[in-house]
Amino acid sequence: MLKKLELVGFKSFPEKTTFELSDGITAVVGPNGCGKSNISDAIRWVLGEHRTKPLRGEKMEDFIFSGTQNKKAMNMAEVTLTLDNSQGHLGLDYDEVTIKRKYYRSGDSEYFLNKTPCRLKDIQETFMDTGLGKDTYSIISQGEIDKILSASPYERRYLFEEASGILKHKTRKQEALKRLNDTEHNLSRVSDVIEELN
Ligand code: ATP
Repeated sequence: MLKKLELVGFKSFPEKTTFELSDGITAVVGPNGCGKSNISDAIRWVLGEHRTKPLRGEKMEDFIFSGTQNKKAMNMAEVTLTLDNSQGHLGLDYDEVTIKRKYYRSGDSEYFLNKTPCRLKDIQETFMDTGLGKDTYSIISQGEIDKILSASPYERRYLFEEASGILKHKTRKQEALKRLNDTEHNLSRVSDVIEELN
């Protein structure tokens, strides 16, 4: 369960903005263009989305507050998400889990899991198979329902794999197969060298 979302310099939120999410349903209302979708973009971004298109940007820099007539552009976007883990769904030994992502105009990124610096991969793996990962349908943006309905059976299968908890193992298998392949390639190069030396 999401408990708190904090934005600083993310899209249309230059000042530190905190959303406390209580039990039940939370609705965000406001006029067109006031930044409602930017909030869900921020959640997807902090959960490890590395593509810009799904978050309605062209490049990472588009997620940093770009300034208005009265306010200077910022140099960094920061999103912090606090989740309740009292049921242990995240596989971490903490009742509360905080993830933070920072992106600087210089192109540098920083990720934190419970205040400890980590890799993007660590965040993605933490949420893989929890139903909250970057590729899940826990956040459905405008137009996405149409996309799910018209998805091919193969694409839809991915959704079920995530929900049933096997995606993590499939991803690890792919990584292991790639390492095996690389090792086989290196081995054959070594045997070439040995042959040349003989
Ligand atoms: P709608 O109801 O029409 O879907 P919305 O409330 O969801 O609108 P968003 O799409 O979240 O609104 O926000 C769009 C606003 O965010 C625009 O005014 C846009 O200028 C502003 N915005 C987006 N990226 C940035 C940025 N990097 N810096 C400053 N403002 C930004």
